[in-house]
Amino acid sequence: MMEKVILTVAPTGNVPTRELNPYVPLTPDEIAEDILRCYNAGAAIAHIHARTDDEQPTPDPAVFKTIIQKVREKCDIIIQLSTGARGGKTAAERGACIDLKPEMVSLATGSSNFAKSVNLNPPELIRELAQRMLDNGVKPEIEIFDLSMLEHAVFLAKKGILKTPMHINLVLGVPGSLSGDPRNLFFLVESLPKESTWSVTSIGKSHRHLSSLTMALGGHVRTGIEDVMELDPGKPVSNLELVQRLANLARACDRPIATAEEARAMLGLKPGGVQL
Ligand code: ZN
Repeated sequence: MMEKVILTVAPTGNVPTRELNPYVPLTPDEIAEDILRCYNAGAAIAHIHARTDDEQPTPDPAVFKTIIQKVREKCDIIIQLSTGARGGKTAAERGACIDLKPEMVSLATGSSNFAKSVNLNPPELIRELAQRMLDNGVKPEIEIFDLSMLEHAVFLAKKGILKTPMHINLVLGVPGSLSGDPRNLFFLVESLPKESTWSVTSIGKSHRHLSSLTMALGGHVRTGIEDVMELDPGKPVSNLELVQRLANLARACDRPIATAEEARAMLGLKPGGVQL
């Protein structure tokens, strides 16, 4: 039997709107309810973005705090907040949620393009965010959109700015960044530091084949409306359907699904999770 697989759900993201996908959860209540459904289907980590009342991305820690409280009332899923470039501009803005001491936050270690904007992460901003994570004892999920970001993460780890073993998420299929060609996945996986844990986020059309491939290769897998709004053209998909698809895939690949508590042990997080 292969290693247990950690399933992550990214239910909301910054881009999906109700118009694009009627199932996307936007308010703290909707997000918490949807995360509970996904948790019951096998998700061990929730990668969370916050929105304003008019659907816009926000880095406001007050909104994140409400979401955390509502999720915690329902289940013990690992809570991972986004510090992504579309959520805010400055390091202070993007990093404000780190002071809430969630179990994990995302950290991109370089810049790239999204479809319509820049995934802007200058070196100073990366260091400032990483330092705030160290100060608060929050584990980063390192977001890698190409090899240079991976090499930069290894460099930052050597300098002691990032702790090892790192948890590295390989992001493929973003329009304007590295495509979902399986060769790109193999190349990045071969380049990973040996001791790191790793997962794959595959966007849009690449989702079907890369999530299957990652499951077979022994990596951890992310899904959710943030990454894929439809599996079949013109048919919006729900977060629950996406997690159920991965759970079925895991069973077919002989990968037991890690509970949140098992995932904590695999990622070196404190048992029981951080309570607010
Ligand atoms: Zn995200």
